[in-house]
Amino acid sequence: MIARVTLEIALRKEFDYLVPPEFQDRVDIGARVKVPFGGRKLMGVVTGLPDQSDHHKLKPILNVIGKGSLVTPKVLALARWMAAYYCCPIETALKSVLPVAVRKEKEGWKKQLHIRSVEPVGSEIKLTKRQQELRAILQEWKEMPLQEFLKMTQSTKATVKKLEDAGVARMTHEVIERDPYADEHIVPTESLELNQEQRRSLDAIEQALDADPDQRTSSVFLLHGVTGSGKTEVYLQAIDHAMDQGKGAIVLVPEISLTPQTVERFKARFSSGKNKTLVAVLHSHLSDGERHDEWHKIREGRARIVIGARSAVFAPVEPLGLIIVDEEHEHSYKQEEAPRYHARDVAVVRAQREQAVVVLGSATPSLETYYNTQKGKYHLLEMPSRADNKTMPWVRVVDMRSEGRKNKGIPILSQQLKESIQQRLDNREQTMLFLNRRGYASSMQCPKCGFVAGCPNCSISLTYHRRKQQLRCHICGHDEKAPVCCPVDTCKSYEIRFAGIGTEKVEDTLKVLFPKAGIERMDSDTLKRKEDYKRILTDFRLGKVDILIGTQMIAKGLHFPNVTLVGIIYADLSLHMPDFRAGERTFQLLTQVAGRAGRGDVEGDVYVQSFTPFHAAIQYARRHDYLGFYEQEIEFRKETLYPPAMRLAVITLRGKNEEKLKLSGQHLAQLIGQFKESMPDLTVAGPSPAPLERAETFFRYQIMMKCARMSRLSAKLAQLIAETRLPEGVLTAVDIDPVNMH
Ligand code: ADP
Ligand code: ZN
Ligand code: ZN
Repeated sequence: MIARVTLEIALRKEFDYLVPPEFQDRVDIGARVKVPFGGRKLMGVVTGLPDQSDHHKLKPILNVIGKGSLVTPKVLALARWMAAYYCCPIETALKSVLPVAVRKEKEGWKKQLHIRSVEPVGSEIKLTKRQQELRAILQEWKEMPLQEFLKMTQSTKATVKKLEDAGVARMTHEVIERDPYADEHIVPTESLELNQEQRRSLDAIEQALDADPDQRTSSVFLLHGVTGSGKTEVYLQAIDHAMDQGKGAIVLVPEISLTPQTVERFKARFSSGKNKTLVAVLHSHLSDGERHDEWHKIREGRARIVIGARSAVFAPVEPLGLIIVDEEHEHSYKQEEAPRYHARDVAVVRAQREQAVVVLGSATPSLETYYNTQKGKYHLLEMPSRADNKTMPWVRVVDMRSEGRKNKGIPILSQQLKESIQQRLDNREQTMLFLNRRGYASSMQCPKCGFVAGCPNCSISLTYHRRKQQLRCHICGHDEKAPVCCPVDTCKSYEIRFAGIGTEKVEDTLKVLFPKAGIERMDSDTLKRKEDYKRILTDFRLGKVDILIGTQMIAKGLHFPNVTLVGIIYADLSLHMPDFRAGERTFQLLTQVAGRAGRGDVEGDVYVQSFTPFHAAIQYARRHDYLGFYEQEIEFRKETLYPPAMRLAVITLRGKNEEKLKLSGQHLAQLIGQFKESMPDLTVAGPSPAPLERAETFFRYQIMMKCARMSRLSAKLAQLIAETRLPEGVLTAVDIDPVNMH
């Protein structure tokens, strides 16, 4: 028997090994194995079982990890597709497919010593009175963890050992499953009576689930529903339908929205009482052990519904009936390191291969997805009103230019926003304020000589963090002590200033304006631990906090009925990014944030402070007009030939020697230019300096390619990258369908 193995190191190659007889019943496609390789021992995955090999003298595999195949043939095929499409080696793709906790060489089960009562064979040995007592207790319990038994009976391990010697008890190592939600008390819920819009959406999804896959008119749905329209209820009932057909489901949620609240809604519907293991959760807050156990629950089929972040799209659910991608427009679905896959797009491909149905849900769909509905590739389901019949919050755009004229200098809070906060404090209602920049000030500048404190490693300015008196780089993490005067030798001015605002400064300003209010800040500086996150949210829920300030991380997935005011401190921040999606991102952010207001019984107000109040992204968001925004934005994309009008691929070259980098870029661009012979629609631009010209001491150059269809181009690029040798010190990264232009 021969096993073809993909090793963990990226060699873009598979290797054949002999399977010794003792392993033959455990080696299957998808099994994890340990093999000898050039004097080392490496881990790998069996990716084929060929009848014969081109090589002679094959070495035997050394070990098989676990009971059998980990990667299912379907997921393996998906990994192969991913490697081809996203231009990465198969071993890199496989790394995403199997969580680290499952890839470990040692089996990850947690075991515990148990004691159980057994009937002695042969003649009975005489027990002491104490031993008889213990035996009687054990007979009653049959089996229990040894520690518990010792505690309960006040006995020692030595005494128990005597019982074992007497043949009336046996100690065994039992697997104990770690359940991250073991301590949560979850109250089961029943399906809600659907409103008309929900009913219509669910009917369409159910029809697709019921239909013969070849007869379906559509198997990918976009559920476009405003925040609060009841999309989650539709997901829940669609999953229920898939389960009735004996099929499982995967629910993808952006990491940041994967809160206990979200998980609980799914557990409460499907996973109480005897079905406790039916819902598995996969996200980064789990311990390695918990993730290992959750994953195996899925692999063994005990969990049939998986809820998780990006990589849960590879969960080994079989048979798969439904994939839901909530907040499908979220950029966190794109992995920013190889394999640079987009989980939403992988979900669509996976579903197609496994004849499953996909539901993409969003209040602000990505241009790509909406465009696909216009082209007839996806089926559009609309839910324009809120399920609870509440009105959409009133959005007011505050022109900060006139605020600046009224007050000398521009205030952080406009008069209107200040008054509204005061009103909420008087009514004991809550306020959320957003600013997408952490720290105190965005840069430190000297008005005398023009000096700006920049990062020595990156082409950006350093952010001032006042609490720690530090200047910090938000790209590479470099930090230094903030100087008290201009560091330029010939200047040394004490007038050095901090320009731009961050969440820390907003917090300080609020503390001065509203000294009696409970104020908390939530951004990645304050949330180093998950307990902090939980504590702040609990305090906010309990009303101990009146005003919550945060970056976009508090915009997602949370709802607090007592929040009646939402303020966006500086809406223009995301508009000025050097990225063709800046307008789209701003529109999405404003809409999401506005959706946080007025989710309870009281109507909500939203204030958007801006220096460009008439920008289309801001105005359409103010009117909750997605279609209006889409129509003008798609025109812009068509004119500029950006996605979704055209497909995009970017190669980023990194290196410390700028000349060498430029030459390598020119060489690559010239080779790619030759593709045009067979791809007349291809355009190649660059190499030119990336928007972020230098990061972590590396210079960065980019080549940008646009074409009508991606699969041809990515296949050619994969081959080109594998075959082209670039000078030492020049690194390349191919990004197919990039979402972050930086
Ligand atoms: P979305 O996911 O679209 O933002 P949710 O699913 O969170 O919306 O629903 C918003 C609120 O409306 C929730 O409190 C939910 O329980 C409630 N809801 C949803 N559907 C119904 C329904 N059919 N009848 C009554 N309440 C509903
Ligand atoms: Zn100076
Ligand atoms: Zn830096």
